[in-house]
Amino acid sequence: MNYEHLDSDKKDILIIDDMADNLRILSSILTRDGYNVRKALNWQMALTATQTLLPDLILLDIMMPEVDGYEICQTFKAWELTADIPVIFISALDDVFDKVKAFRVGGVDYITKPFEFQEVLVRVQNQLALRSARLEILKLNVELEHRVKQRTCELEKTLQKLQQEITSRHKLQNKLLDIALHDSLTRLPNRVLFIRRLENALNRTQQESSYQFAVLFLDCDRFKVVNDSLGHPVGDELLLAIAHRLQGCLIPIDTLARLGGDEFGIILDNITDINIAIKVAERILQQLSLAFKLSRYEVFMNASIGISWGNKNYDRPEYLLRDADTAMHRSKAQGRGKYHVFNPGMHQKAIQLLELENDLRRAVERQEFLVYYQPIISLTTGKISGFEALVRWQHPIRGLVYPGEFIPVAEETGLINPINTWVLQSACHQLSIWQHYPVTPEPLTISVNLSAKLFSQPNLVEQIDRIIYENQLNPAYLELEITETVIMENTDAIKIILQQLKQRKIKLIMDDFGTGYSSLSYLHNFPFDALKIDQSFVKRMQENKENMGLVPAMVGIANSMGMSVIAEGVETQEQLAQLRSLNCNFAQGYLFSKPIEQQLVLKLLATAPQW
Ligand code: C2E
Ligand code: MG
Ligand code: MG
Repeated sequence: MNYEHLDSDKKDILIIDDMADNLRILSSILTRDGYNVRKALNWQMALTATQTLLPDLILLDIMMPEVDGYEICQTFKAWELTADIPVIFISALDDVFDKVKAFRVGGVDYITKPFEFQEVLVRVQNQLALRSARLEILKLNVELEHRVKQRTCELEKTLQKLQQEITSRHKLQNKLLDIALHDSLTRLPNRVLFIRRLENALNRTQQESSYQFAVLFLDCDRFKVVNDSLGHPVGDELLLAIAHRLQGCLIPIDTLARLGGDEFGIILDNITDINIAIKVAERILQQLSLAFKLSRYEVFMNASIGISWGNKNYDRPEYLLRDADTAMHRSKAQGRGKYHVFNPGMHQKAIQLLELENDLRRAVERQEFLVYYQPIISLTTGKISGFEALVRWQHPIRGLVYPGEFIPVAEETGLINPINTWVLQSACHQLSIWQHYPVTPEPLTISVNLSAKLFSQPNLVEQIDRIIYENQLNPAYLELEITETVIMENTDAIKIILQQLKQRKIKLIMDDFGTGYSSLSYLHNFPFDALKIDQSFVKRMQENKENMGLVPAMVGIANSMGMSVIAEGVETQEQLAQLRSLNCNFAQGYLFSKPIEQQLVLKLLATAPQW
């Protein structure tokens, strides 16, 4: 073996032939053409040569002793390292050369002796070029595979990123949805989500005949007072505490929502009986009536609840909520801290109320009001000492409407201001006219009821001044009847107004005494001239003949505070006698006269009645 000429740039050719002559000739042809040539005379040498260095091409003689060319070729093709080295067979013309076998064992070509130099070179070159090309392809393949792998990896990474993005988008979307459907303070569902759940429940009633549910509409009583007096942070704290307590009264399948401000909505899911809803409402009211211990304050709270029964007759969830709301207002009207179950008549009533409000607006524009007058009798003289002005509404269709029906609506809508001022003006005007008649006893007084709402009107005193001035009235003959709700607020502003009225010598009367919640100490703070005992106490006097109920105590209180007493709603001689025995100063009631139209007043006075 000859390694001297081994040159790494040159292609390496291994010639395996047992004929030294052949070796020499081929070697010289190829060496001259620029190849590295190594020679092996037998299988053993060939093996060593390939193990030392893998040749680029093998020229292999077929006819050799011991191991022949086919076998050697087959062995090379079987080894992984040598399998792709091209083998060109050498055969002498007279050899029994089996070409098919040569190709089958892996040979790529053959040359025959005597050697045609050019042919040998071309065949060798071809095979080497083919091999290079194959190797190049192989390399490219590997490279391609590598690149594909890289790309796949990159793609996977991008995909992963994309998936992360999608997940975070989903999260954001859910968060936004959550914000849109929940109340930010309590984290409870808001009105939108509540309506959706109601809709689902209604749909279920269509599909399952046995499915029923109830809706509770809860409104906190007096929440605004807490919020306004203790501040919004305390209000928020209280709302959270309320939400927490409400949750405690429900089971997980129920829905609790904050519908706004101090209003909460509840869906009692899948209940079989309205009594279950009533029990829950009772429990809630009981729970809410317990003191709320907030971080800085202890607060008492109450709520009013309206209940509506979810059934398939409802077309829209909003109607269900509306009906629960209507029922809630009904329970509020009946006094706070109560519940009420909706019935269809209530809806009718709510509509009527709305109509009433519209009519009332028109009535103010068209001056559809009248004043009736009810005499007040002095129990010392038994004669008429004055009149109470009582408003009526001459409704174009319904006829005479009583104040009990429209005053609350007027108060709620603010229409009370023009109405009440008009009554005051009319009554003062009438008194100034009556005072010019000889039948009029001296001094005849006029009592006018003043709604509590009027006290928030900034120029109340000026208006009264103006009315007195325009009618040339002695203010000492004017009496203003005020209910306990006015003084319950006990604000300085109201005290000032009452003081100003007092300075003008206007008489102040506490109307409906005993029906409100004002404490006696409050009464002390205000300059009242008289107490008007509510008719309910006068009525009960007869039931309780021995001690005449609370009336003696009320007369006692008035006397001790230097106030006179007027008894309202006197209907019987017996009541009159009892009141006289108690030294009650004045009385008013059907026994003497019902409220009468203005034209009848002079006629009544002319008869100079005495009781
Ligand atoms: P009030 O001021 O307590 O008036 C007494 C009410 O008792 C009147 O009802 C009167 O008609 C009724 N009444 C008088 N005597 C008897 C009797 O012997 N038996 C019975 N059962 N009732 C008797 P009316 O006129 O329906 O007025 C109801 C309430 O409406 C008044 O109660 C007053 O609070 C309010 N009101 C009336 N007119 C006005 C007004 O011009 N302005 C304001 N703000 N409220 C008014
Ligand atoms: Mg009155
Ligand atoms: Mg009264």
